[in-house]
Amino acid sequence: MDAVAPIPQSTSQATLGELIAEARRLLEQAGIESAEQEALWIVEHVLRLPSHHVITDRDRLLSSSELAATRGLIARRVGREPLQYILGTQEFCGLEFEVSPAVLIPRPETELLVEYVTQRISAERQATIVDVCTGSGCIAVAIARLRPHARVMAIDLSGSSLHVARRNATRHGVGERITWLEGDLLGPLAEQGLEGLVDVIVSNPPYIAEAEWATLQPEVKLFEPRGALVAGAQGTELHERLLQEAVRYLAPGGVVILEIGAGQARGLRRIVEQLPGYKFHRLVYDEAGLERVVIVERVGA
Ligand code: GLN
Repeated sequence: MDAVAPIPQSTSQATLGELIAEARRLLEQAGIESAEQEALWIVEHVLRLPSHHVITDRDRLLSSSELAATRGLIARRVGREPLQYILGTQEFCGLEFEVSPAVLIPRPETELLVEYVTQRISAERQATIVDVCTGSGCIAVAIARLRPHARVMAIDLSGSSLHVARRNATRHGVGERITWLEGDLLGPLAEQGLEGLVDVIVSNPPYIAEAEWATLQPEVKLFEPRGALVAGAQGTELHERLLQEAVRYLAPGGVVILEIGAGQARGLRRIVEQLPGYKFHRLVYDEAGLERVVIVERVGA
């Protein structure tokens, strides 16, 4: 990656105020929208400053190692690496999650999935809930915290993302509450003896259509794991396969709660209508008014 080197500005001496101005300028030049805010966050992170110090300490002369460390991170952001990978965290459902390039950065819309799981499962219930494509573990961890009596299982194809997810669970005190399984979609459930016993299967699977990949912003396209984002030609391939696999594990009245992309609801409804054992229950829109979550119910059995 060709990061733009902060050459003319990168003098060996600078105050905190000068460094912030330099960082803001470089981020602006790189086309970063909230350059000022991001410059402050990066500087605060490197220098471990509580926010008000950035204001009161502007004249402090920085050491050469402080300057080098900050400029290193600014150069990464100028190269369009997501701020969350640079700082190492992202908030989700009010909890701070570790993120690395092994995992998708949790998005605020995905909190809707957690909300609908908690609507469906009361706080006292000893339900069995499976999070498929757990990534950073954000959904599984948030649910384990909100539903202390539930049995939570989390599956991912990627061993390295499961490492991140486990650390996130430990960080939030639910490491022992979640069963971690590595494998493709519901494949690893085969040995768990859960046929007909699962109350909720929740997933934010990859749902970008292959042709759309090129149109994504550089932060996503160049840095986030492609396997966590791209499904196939349609974008709904994994939803379809997951629904096919899920039918044998769901208890009667159990649900599959899936995140989708804008414009995918119709196709998904058609998929559900063709699969025996399901009823399309509900489509939920996100704050931007986009189709975002579908809830599919297991009937009969
Ligand atoms: N479950 C994680 C999330 O919602 C990861 C999803 C994925 O990798 N597709 O952020």
